[in-house]
Amino acid sequence: RSKNQGGNKITYFSTGMNDQAMVRLELESYLRKALQKNEFHLCYQPLLDLQTGEITCTEALIRWQHPHLGLVSPAQFIPLAEETGLIEEIGAWVLTTACAQTKYWQQNGFPNLGISVNVSAYQFQQHAFIGQVIEALNVSGLDPGYLSLELTESAMLKDIVYSISVMKSLQELGVKVSIDDFGTGYSSLSYLRNLPIDTLKIDQSFINNLHDDPSDIAIVKAIITMGQGLAVKIVAEGVETHEQMNILRDLDCHYAQGYYIEKPLDTDAFEKGFRTVENVAYTVK
Ligand code: C2E
Ligand code: MG
Ligand code: MG
Ligand code: MG
Repeated sequence: RSKNQGGNKITYFSTGMNDQAMVRLELESYLRKALQKNEFHLCYQPLLDLQTGEITCTEALIRWQHPHLGLVSPAQFIPLAEETGLIEEIGAWVLTTACAQTKYWQQNGFPNLGISVNVSAYQFQQHAFIGQVIEALNVSGLDPGYLSLELTESAMLKDIVYSISVMKSLQELGVKVSIDDFGTGYSSLSYLRNLPIDTLKIDQSFINNLHDDPSDIAIVKAIITMGQGLAVKIVAEGVETHEQMNILRDLDCHYAQGYYIEKPLDTDAFEKGFRTVENVAYTVK
């Protein structure tokens, strides 16, 4: 192990810095090497079509397995990747990997499976972003209509004019656009009229207590009704119980995603799970 791998530096800083700064620095130095060291992989969480009972799409969720730190949550390292600019490379890797995997699945038993990819605010604002999307589609050969990109409200509202132009370019390519964690942003609803979006994903905080909170039901119902008016598909995130799923189906919500349906699966688990199910509750379209 050579000295320029950062081990000495970390020991030096640990004497003078507080624990939090120390952890951040250590994490950052590990994160810089994670791509080359092949420490990332993607898990895929299915989206269930509530009308047909089919799995039409999966969401790619990044995982970082570090040899010493163990599994690091994206909630922990994605913000750091954004601050350091590393998200540009990591985001490109996610796009390429997710598109290639989906193309592979389409050719091996799941002909109409789509893919939804999370895009961070910083990544979305980069001028290289559209090029990365085109590259991932070209390299994989995936039909653009099977790719959906998940943006958050805060990502879009940083520069709304620029955001709209990027979203329009995406739609010209045939790529779909989703708003993730919908309902948690600060924005008014009026901006929705101007945004070229295909899907709204209702944040899981509105779904958690759906079965015993009438106000959550009212909110979810209103979002679904609005979606119908705007011709936007609605996904409920974080569905954990049969009751929640039934309520969503009764409200004519299009898609559900959550642990009750399936947790995020690595590629092996996805293939096993969706090939060997006897009582096919969830088939692939
Ligand atoms: P998200 O895009 O809103 O993803 C949903 C998160 O909720 C995932 O956490 C998922 O594992 C979790 N989840 C799914 N079903 C349930 C459920 O029924 N109950 C509960 N409590 N949680 C559920 P995860 O994988 O830890 O990802 C957290 C966030 O990190 C994501 O939120 C997304 O914002 C970000 N993220 C993940 N992968 C990527 C990526 O490849 N690129 C970017 N830019 N961000 C990513
Ligand atoms: Mg998401
Ligand atoms: Mg979400
Ligand atoms: Mg989230």
